[in-house]
Amino acid sequence: MGKFAAMLFENTLAFAQSLDNSDNLAHLRSEFIIPTNKDGEPIVYLCGNSLGLQPKNALQYIQNELEDWALLGVEGHFHGRKPWFHYHKFLTDQSAALVGALPHEVVVMNQLTVNLHLLMVSFYRPQAGKYKILMEAGAFPSDMYAVQSQVEMHGYNYDDAVIELAPRQGEYCLSNEDIIAAIEQHGSELALVFFSGVQYYTGQCFDIPAITKAAHQVGAMAGFDLAHAAGNLKLQLHNHNVDFAAWCSYKYLNSGPGNVSGIFIHEKHGLNPATPRFAGWWGHKEDVRFQMKRGYIPEPGAAGWQLSNAPVFGMAVHRASLDIFSQAGIDALTSKTQTLTPFLRYCLLQAKAQNPRIQFDIITPENAAGCQLSLLTDASGKQLFDYLTSQNIICDWREPNVIRMAPVPLYNSFVDCYKVGQAFAEFKG
Ligand SMILES: *Cc1c(COP(=O)(O)O)cnc(C)c1O
Repeated sequence: MGKFAAMLFENTLAFAQSLDNSDNLAHLRSEFIIPTNKDGEPIVYLCGNSLGLQPKNALQYIQNELEDWALLGVEGHFHGRKPWFHYHKFLTDQSAALVGALPHEVVVMNQLTVNLHLLMVSFYRPQAGKYKILMEAGAFPSDMYAVQSQVEMHGYNYDDAVIELAPRQGEYCLSNEDIIAAIEQHGSELALVFFSGVQYYTGQCFDIPAITKAAHQVGAMAGFDLAHAAGNLKLQLHNHNVDFAAWCSYKYLNSGPGNVSGIFIHEKHGLNPATPRFAGWWGHKEDVRFQMKRGYIPEPGAAGWQLSNAPVFGMAVHRASLDIFSQAGIDALTSKTQTLTPFLRYCLLQAKAQNPRIQFDIITPENAAGCQLSLLTDASGKQLFDYLTSQNIICDWREPNVIRMAPVPLYNSFVDCYKVGQAFAEFKG
């Protein structure tokens, strides 16, 4: 699907159905378990930005590991169908393809915030006079707390060492020019520029190559939290020369609550054994790992940042999900997003024009490439949100007054978007 001009949309069920009929990814919806309401009807699920739906194949993938464990016990490490000894490797190629990396630049391990800490241990290396971190104001709280504790570990305080960049007065999103100008302005003091790929509150997509380039020009590292970007945007971390990144697997990557995270470390750092890091046995050079000797020798690449042996059950679900992504291809998915999300925007704005009781502004920039739309509401926003829930439309509420919705190309339909518009049009307040 290509990009549709919004003026070509029609606000009718027949039109939404015609888009679904010409969607060559529509069959993927049947790979997922769509939750139902109490009457057994599928709900409209628009929360894939927060917790993606369960792939139907996940159960089988976990069952295989439970069976191997039951049959083989410890032997499963080497003689299972997918030996646990290097289970993380079964995730590597697909993860690399998703984020535009070389296979040795990614590994799946731990969870997201843990990984952000491990990456900052390696790539936030403040020196006298060059110790500051530039990040977006209003970043996801875990990122703020992680950054705060990192700067404090090095003996700095947050207010001095962290520069939070806020949108201009009266605006909700940062302009790329302002980000680049701030990097240039503070350049001599910056050790690290750390941004999200997609801002969790507004849905804004940051310009990863431009931010990375500007950071490098002032001698700073560029790192990204891709929690809302992985599986949502087409990423090119290697070509864009990003230093490091991490993401979780349970949002757009549909791998279940709290599941494992992926990291990217550019090969220019990852292949250098002298890059400082926290170490554990699973990052030790694989062919000599079981000699159990002192003296850490890292695996080359991101694999050399692993600490613990692979959590196989979580990774099994992640494999199940990545297999669906491979089947679809990130190019086809992002291409569908370029029509699906604008169609939801169109349906919402049509409803707003029809129904004077509805008050909201979409603060997600129109040119944002991702799935998400963020609706800034007025005082009746929570009421609107509760109404949507009562209409079997599941989106999420972010204090103080934003409703987030994300139609995801793997399992949401154009009819889903149409239904949301209809519900808005019928809102009585
Ligand atoms: C979802 C999210 C997290 C969550 O971190 P966990 O360690 O997986 O709990 C962190 N950062 C951002 C930007 C997020 O969107």
